[in-house]
Amino acid sequence: MGESNQKVIKASEMNPKFKYEISKMHGGEKLMRCFQCGTCTSDCPVARFSDTYRPRQIIRMAQLGLKERVLNSETLWLCASCFTCTDRCPQDVEVASVIRVLRNLAAEEGHVPQVFKDEYLSILESGYAYKIPELRIKKRETVGLPPLPKGNRESLGKVLRSVGFLKYIEGKGES
Ligand code: SF4
Ligand code: SF4
Repeated sequence: MGESNQKVIKASEMNPKFKYEISKMHGGEKLMRCFQCGTCTSDCPVARFSDTYRPRQIIRMAQLGLKERVLNSETLWLCASCFTCTDRCPQDVEVASVIRVLRNLAAEEGHVPQVFKDEYLSILESGYAYKIPELRIKKRETVGLPPLPKGNRESLGKVLRSVGFLKYIEGKGES
């Protein structure tokens, strides 16, 4: 169980309107169907390798209206969006989509982990999600591999700007 999820829940933390807010969003409609069977967690490939990531808990926090707690949770960003949970849920809860809805809300409140901001900036600068180390480029040459293709920075930048993500990258301003 995740550390942040082990804290005592205070009634003042619970926002009863939060579940309705999520249920109105595309993908979040079936949130309230969850009866906490735990199938999503037991089948989740990320949960298998993490001591803290539990999709069932994320769904429960959302149902209980623990808005600040769930939107501030770093584990929210560990989901690999593989949709196994959505395929296996006996209640047809679109678990992966609920997590996407929560991430969007978290981003709107400025809770984007630095690692994603760095990836975004790297895509804008190089077309790659992370900077390829010089050593690796040289190693490719020594084993006779062709140079890496150039990333299409213009198209990628256009897409990222069109979805309005730049405003979430602190200090970079909208362009
Ligand atoms: S599998 Fe579905 S019903 Fe079971 S805990 Fe996960 S979301 Fe809830
Ligand atoms: S979509 Fe996310 S929560 Fe669902 S099984 Fe995949 S990694 Fe786990």
